[in-house]
Parts: sequence; C-alpha cells; structure tokens
Amino acid sequence: GTGVGSGVRARPRLTVLSGPSGVGKSSVLAELRRMGPEIHFSVSVTTRKPRPGEVDGVHYHFVDAAEFRDMVARGEFLEHAEFAGNCYGTPKAPVERALASGTPSLLEIELQGARQVRVAMPEAQLVMLAPPSWEDLVGRLTGRGTEDPAVVARRLEIAREELAAEPEFDEVVVNDDVKSAAASLLNLVVGPVPDA
Ligand code: 5GP
Repeated sequence: GTGVGSGVRARPRLTVLSGPSGVGKSSVLAELRRMGPEIHFSVSVTTRKPRPGEVDGVHYHFVDAAEFRDMVARGEFLEHAEFAGNCYGTPKAPVERALASGTPSLLEIELQGARQVRVAMPEAQLVMLAPPSWEDLVGRLTGRGTEDPAVVARRLEIAREELAAEPEFDEVVVNDDVKSAAASLLNLVVGPVPDA
C-alpha cells in the first residue's frame, strides 16, 4: 500500500534502465549510488572480460561461457541476452529478495533483456537513458578507446536499434548532465516522497 493520496502514484518496485552503449550509464549509476543508498542495484553476470578498474562481484560477476550456460540451465536468471558477442544475465534471487523486503530494485540491462522483464514482470518500470544527440553518442563510443574498431562499429549499430525502441519505454531520461540525469532517475526509482 503506497501513496494513494494527493496524486502520488504507487512506487514502482522494479526499474529497468536501458540505453545504448556509451550513453553514460555507469557514470549516472555511480551518481545514483551516492544519492540513493536505499536502492538495490542488481549485479549482472557476464562472460565479457573485465575492463580496467572493473571489480568482480561489484560491477559484474565475471564467468566463463560454461558457467553461464549452467546458470541458464538451472533457471537462475530473471532475464539473459547476448550482446556484441558476450552473454549477460540478471540473477533472479537477489532481485526477488529486494522486492520481497520492499526495497526498490534497479536493473541496468540492454533492450532484449528489458523486453524479457516487461513480459516476466509487467509491473516493472522501463526507463531509457538517452544521449543528448546521436553525434554525442558517436563521440563517446569512439573516444572510450578500450575496444577495437569492429566492436565499436557493432555497438553503434546496436545503439541505433536501442534508440529506436524508445516508444516501448515508460520514461526517457536524457543524459545531458550526469547529476541531473541521476536525480531524475532517483525520482523514478524511489518515487516522489508523499507529503507528510
Ligand atoms: P558492457 O559490456 O558495456 O558493460 O554492457 C553491454 C550491454 O549489456 C549494456 O547495454 C548493458 O546494459 C547490458 N547488460 C549488462 N548487464 C546485463 C544483464 O544482466 N542483462 C542484459 N540483458 N543486459 C545487460
């Protein structure tokens, strides 16, 4: 039972954040962690190799392909998808624990996964983090410098498809400024605080 009065809608419990590679999801999420310590942030499992600075169990659980397949077979994922040649999945149990205890939960996943969550949990709120412009996104993706050109090209292609899916999302947050994007996201994830 939440926020019935004064036009405040019930708090969405589960938020799915998607957005093209290079849009700045990790910066916005880092800011959101500082702003919303009560939020449960899902840690995904991936077969991708860690990037410099990424910590196993913090940014991702890094596994090999066989381990990932076993987890799929055991039904341990809420959703899972392949992205640019690697597998990614959301472990089901931590999300279920968070929701059961009334803790808002946030998944940062790509489009195919967002669609799976939409089907599995229709009450989930889908939020897209969008770049201020296409040129801005190309600049960020090209400038990262940690991936080879073929990977960047593939990610740009996927980014175009992801942006085209905007109508499927409940909300769009434009990342023209990390702090304000994080503040908008916080408002969506935790909901407006009802008047006392
Ligand atoms: P990256 O390799 O750049 O960290 O992530 C690549 C893409 O995979 C991003 O769009 C990211 O949102 C997505 N991703 C990360 N974790 C998951 C997950 O658990 N499931 C799905 N479907 N996508 C994920």
